[in-house]
Amino acid sequence: MATYLDWYGCATFSLRTSGLTIFLDAYIDRSEDAEGTGLTASDITEADYILVGHSHFDHLWGAERILQNTQAIMIGSYESVRVMETLGIPLDRMICVSGGETIDLAAGVSVSVHPSQHSCVWSHSQMDEPDVVCLGDLGVHWHQQQERFLDLMQYLATDTTEATRTHLKESQPGHSDRGDGGALTYLIQTPEGSVFYQDTSGYYSGTIPALKPDVAILAAAGRGNIDGEPIQGSLAQFVAGQVEVMKPKKVIYGHHDNWLPGFSIPTNTDPINAAVKAVHPAVEIIEPGYLEGTQIFG
Ligand SMILES: [Zn+2]
Repeated sequence: MATYLDWYGCATFSLRTSGLTIFLDAYIDRSEDAEGTGLTASDITEADYILVGHSHFDHLWGAERILQNTQAIMIGSYESVRVMETLGIPLDRMICVSGGETIDLAAGVSVSVHPSQHSCVWSHSQMDEPDVVCLGDLGVHWHQQQERFLDLMQYLATDTTEATRTHLKESQPGHSDRGDGGALTYLIQTPEGSVFYQDTSGYYSGTIPALKPDVAILAAAGRGNIDGEPIQGSLAQFVAGQVEVMKPKKVIYGHHDNWLPGFSIPTNTDPINAAVKAVHPAVEIIEPGYLEGTQIFG
């Protein structure tokens, strides 16, 4: 028996373990000018579960087709379930969670759900390289964050590529302006080891010390969010801060490719690797390409 991980770009992975195929997020389609696997969600014909980190299109869109083409069960926030319900997915194919639940997926495989935070996406337009130190933006209240988020929407609508703008229009069926739906992280227990999954750069400092995963999949994009406030430092420091606390044996990054040109960047992971190694020299950093079927256990 062995456990394999495939990266579909952005923060989407599939984990194959104990005879199960578990999708982590479901965003597979890309705009014409973006990096990606060349696949769409319609190409996925094998899935037993889909764990969705939050409700933004670049995590959730595609789940509706995977659910239609397989017998998979989706686990996600109440908002993710609402969006899928508006697209015609029966409620008995979905499990609403908000953190605190542990769900058995098969004999010897379970997942626990943890409340988390979304990156401070309101605080920037195009993403920075991971060694850029960002300071300030502390204590920004909700209305002000919304105003700044509208500035980002305006930027995306005018200053990105035409392919990106077309993609943004087609990628959000069933969505409204209800936001991320509350970010969640997942700790998947397999007979061979545990896998932590995070799909946006945020966390609660009170929850992660108890998680001691063997493998940590960590979002590496945008301005990190710790307990609701933007990190005072760089993305590299943000990622390393979690590695220092969780002490995983292996780290794999997500969300760091150029999945939405004009907003995302092809992230140079060297500064993140250096920061991670500085706090946890024994960690193995794995940087798979798309669909490489990386063996993580066994
Ligand atoms: Zn998001």
